[in-house]
Amino acid sequence: MLTIENVTKSFGGLMAVNDVTLQLDPTGIAGLVGPNGSGKSTLFHLITGFYKLDGGAVYFKDRRISGLSPHIISRMGLVRTFQHTRVLPFLTAQENLMAASPAQAGERLTAVFLRPGRVKLEENKNRERAVEILEILNLKSLCHHLAGRLSFGQQKLLELGRVLMAEPGMILLDEPTAGINPTLIRQLVEIIKGLSRRGIRIFLIEHNMPLVAELCTKTFVMDSGSLIFSGTPAAARENSRVIEAYLGREDHAA
Ligand code: ADP
Ligand code: MG
Repeated sequence: MLTIENVTKSFGGLMAVNDVTLQLDPTGIAGLVGPNGSGKSTLFHLITGFYKLDGGAVYFKDRRISGLSPHIISRMGLVRTFQHTRVLPFLTAQENLMAASPAQAGERLTAVFLRPGRVKLEENKNRERAVEILEILNLKSLCHHLAGRLSFGQQKLLELGRVLMAEPGMILLDEPTAGINPTLIRQLVEIIKGLSRRGIRIFLIEHNMPLVAELCTKTFVMDSGSLIFSGTPAAARENSRVIEAYLGREDHAA
């Protein structure tokens, strides 16, 4: 479903992503790990069209998506969350989801006047879908709470909800568990497993190795912009290049 071929991106003299080639299996959850600054978020930005590639190509469902805008890519069913959470703090949880829904007829002024019935119908559908998603995320009781008043972890769940509104085929999650409490992490893990069971493909950046081992059938490891390993999480832990990449850095030495 997702194929990355020889993808390269540099910032000035720094090779943030260096000739990365990888393919996701048709089923299961894939994990992307690596020390800080190894190029993981940049790779997600490149896949989803937020950064322009210097070289290489990305294919989703056998179509070349590199060069397309993020907006077109998400309409094709490939969506992502960000390392830093983005919700609309002055809207309620439910409104946040409704505002994230793509292609609302109500946004076109002509439709409001010429086909008010259709706009109403779409809005109702949207509202129902938002409630369904809040239920999946265990946030239904907070439906009418302002997003800015939710805990950081709940805001991260809500951000996931916003991308679910697009009815995606694949979701890229950038450090979904970073900074959230253990209880909410367990909830999130169950939610991710549930989405995968519903047939949504998941590719996630995650620092918590036990969590990667629990969730992922395949792990990719990056170091200094290059892909240095792909295989099972168990094999990753025993791979000498992977061990060296982690132990060689002060920020992971602990
Ligand atoms: P990771 O997500 O693995 O921690 P990133 O992809 O964020 O790493 O960053 C990879 C490298 O690219 C880092 O050295 C980072 O400083 C650099 N980098 C990332 N984004 C930019 C940018 N927009 N401009 C300049 N350098 C960047
Ligand atoms: Mg990152």
